[in-house]
Amino acid sequence: MRNKTRVVHIGNKLMGGDNPILIQTMANVKTSRVDDILKMDKHLRELGNDLLRLSVLDKEDALAFKELSSRTDTPLIADIHFNYEYAIMAMENGAKKIRINPGNIGGFDNLRKIIDVAKFYKVPIRIGVNSGSLGQSFDHRHDSLESYLKPLDDSIKVFEAEGFHDLVLSLKSSDPNMCYAAYKEADRRYIYPLHLGVTETGGGYVGALRTAVALVPLLKEGIGNTIRISLTEDPSHEVIACKQLLKAMGLRKNVPVLISCPTCGRTQVNLIEVYNKVAKHLENIDKDIKVAVMGCPVNGPGEAKDADIGLAGAKDAFMIFKKGKPVKVMPEEEAIKYLFDAIDKF
Ligand code: SF4
Repeated sequence: MRNKTRVVHIGNKLMGGDNPILIQTMANVKTSRVDDILKMDKHLRELGNDLLRLSVLDKEDALAFKELSSRTDTPLIADIHFNYEYAIMAMENGAKKIRINPGNIGGFDNLRKIIDVAKFYKVPIRIGVNSGSLGQSFDHRHDSLESYLKPLDDSIKVFEAEGFHDLVLSLKSSDPNMCYAAYKEADRRYIYPLHLGVTETGGGYVGALRTAVALVPLLKEGIGNTIRISLTEDPSHEVIACKQLLKAMGLRKNVPVLISCPTCGRTQVNLIEVYNKVAKHLENIDKDIKVAVMGCPVNGPGEAKDADIGLAGAKDAFMIFKKGKPVKVMPEEEAIKYLFDAIDKF
């Protein structure tokens, strides 16, 4: 089903068709702080991020794309509101994709100017229509699916009339059910790749769960070509959340799985602390390894018998087990070191 969309080139990445679903996040520092952006990009790339979006607030930000794109292979996306000239400047300076909201870019004449430059540089454009910033054609008194889709429909017509088809579409809302319905309808109507996301979801597991309500059914139905899980968190958390979601759905390889028990009265070790240390170690590992961190030696190895390697807490120590079979018992620090070595050598 996924291969029915067009394919667009975003720097060295392909989006759409039957290409893998790309993970993206957005930097949370000003784009003109080039060294900070590059440091963040390196960390996010090591975590598995594919595309990095950067806000363009002023001329300095738009011009920063020149140095940024010469110092990283990550395709950088310029995110522009209100000022079409910044969109043009960002493309001229190396942005590999731009994201605009046609509803706030100053009318269709400005949109046509952006399209001309995007055609010249072969830069795809994401038309991001958010429920919070829709165009004038959106009637807030009638929050229906049709009124939500209309600004997108109007904009697509302008792009198509100009012969521009390197589009990516997004229809974010803070209501996951509205998102699901809007993306499903967009998938039915258009041939362009879809950027999936729910907006303003909050932080931590609350934000991740609200996003999953919309994304899981869409991805299961083969809808969506790139995802962002927007969280009120450091962008690294967004990338980890995207990676784990895709892995859990069988849509991404080379991602470790960490399983752990919820703890109970049998737990005699500080399992949460050990879990956090192991999770941190696994963040940068790109292997299909299954690791377990369990609370007790009575049920732990059995409950996690499909793990490649694991720890099960005992009194003041941890038992190492492989594929459900005990290997040895060690104090906590030693056991964690043994586990990390085994993961690195896997
Ligand atoms: S593995 Fe042991 S400690 Fe963990 S929940 Fe199961 S019985 Fe409790």
